[in-house]
Amino acid sequence: MATKNPERMEKLISLAKRRGFIYPGSEIYGGLAGTWDYGPLGIALKKNITDLWWKTFVSKRDNVYGIDAAILMNARVWEASGHVAGFSDPLVECEKCKRRFRADHLEDKEKCPECGGKLGEPKQFNMMFKTKVGASEEASVSYLRPETAQGIFVNFKNVLDSFHPKLPFGIAQIGKAFRNEIAPRDFIFRVRELEQMEIEYFVKPDSWQEEFEKWREGVRLWVSLLGLTNVHEVEIGDGDRAHYSVRTVDFEYEYPFGQNELLGLACRTDFDLKNHTNASGVSLEYFDEETKERVTPYVIEPSFGVERAVLAVLNEAYSEDELSGEPRVFLKFPKHLAPVRVAVFPLLKNKPELVAKAREIRSFLSEEFDNTVFDDNGNIGKRYRRQDEIGTPFCVTIDFDTLGENPELKDTVTVRDRDTGEQRRVKVADLKDVLK
Ligand code: ATP
Repeated sequence: MATKNPERMEKLISLAKRRGFIYPGSEIYGGLAGTWDYGPLGIALKKNITDLWWKTFVSKRDNVYGIDAAILMNARVWEASGHVAGFSDPLVECEKCKRRFRADHLEDKEKCPECGGKLGEPKQFNMMFKTKVGASEEASVSYLRPETAQGIFVNFKNVLDSFHPKLPFGIAQIGKAFRNEIAPRDFIFRVRELEQMEIEYFVKPDSWQEEFEKWREGVRLWVSLLGLTNVHEVEIGDGDRAHYSVRTVDFEYEYPFGQNELLGLACRTDFDLKNHTNASGVSLEYFDEETKERVTPYVIEPSFGVERAVLAVLNEAYSEDELSGEPRVFLKFPKHLAPVRVAVFPLLKNKPELVAKAREIRSFLSEEFDNTVFDDNGNIGKRYRRQDEIGTPFCVTIDFDTLGENPELKDTVTVRDRDTGEQRRVKVADLKDVLK
């Protein structure tokens, strides 16, 4: 079981804000609970994660189709899916201070954790954000989607008709989802506006158990690509699963505030496709060419939260050590996830020939790597520390030897490694390969 480390969490939140990863939402107006804004380095990290996911599970596979469905959907979708009636968490209110809590998260169900007052009876609180679509008084009710999955189910027939895939096949989507959480908390762990990466993988009903195990391996691969240690697979018992699931395995990570869900893997059976068939009157069956039978496929759903992945990757990377006798903080991101892949420095800011060469090498490297930066601010030691703190794996320094002051070292640069602080001389011609 994870040991709790609130001090580490504070350090992470403060570094994330100070260095431009993640800011509190609407901060100048005092914030809005459960919302966070990504800064330049935060988006770069998030994009590296979502791109890696897409590449791993969509582009590299022949039988997974990507879509991007609208966030606003016809309200009947949410009636058929069971969300209008049942997407709720138990809410309790303190009779004394009137604060509200999620009942299932409280250790003492009788007493208010804030003021000690008596707690009222739990009520079910629906977590969907309701809104209206259209300008007229009778504008129709809609909801901000609480999961991306339903956008996939309503496009099942479209993908079948356009691509004629054979079972098993998947439809994938990355996008925003919204949940009016009773108690958003723990930085970006529980937020009200989140991003999900979901796959609905349609399988023959009698093969769901083996396909589930294959996806369990797929999720393990993902966890290793993120470089995460301390992930635990937790089988969810009969009474605790979502209403549509016959099997759920949660992948839980040891966050600094304790072990909790990172992502979930579930078998949703034919629950969604059948409900949408009944409610819409449009058949969402699949015609099996071999058996000449119509079946409603079962679906295996690996559901990944982007915020929880970002938080786990940040936590895993956060490191403190001593380098050359000085304490430092650095983010040991896996190289493929680092928001800045390489920083390029001229040794001195006031030597135009060094600056020009450094800019030239930076633009040469940006042909290969998306995220490169140029920095000439302050002494080299300070620049290294700044890059360490945002997790840049390599810094490249251009000096007078690069320009040919020592003819033997002409067209070579110094490459400095984030984790060890070691420096070595590398030919510019070999630089891209060395950094790869
Ligand atoms: P929890 O039990 O923590 O509320 P859940 O079981 O309701 O989560 P799912 O409905 O399975 O979550 O959603 C799939 C994934 O979406 C989760 O594993 C998580 O990564 C992410 N997710 C869900 N709700 C939130 C949230 N409020 N904030 C951040 N990520 C979330």
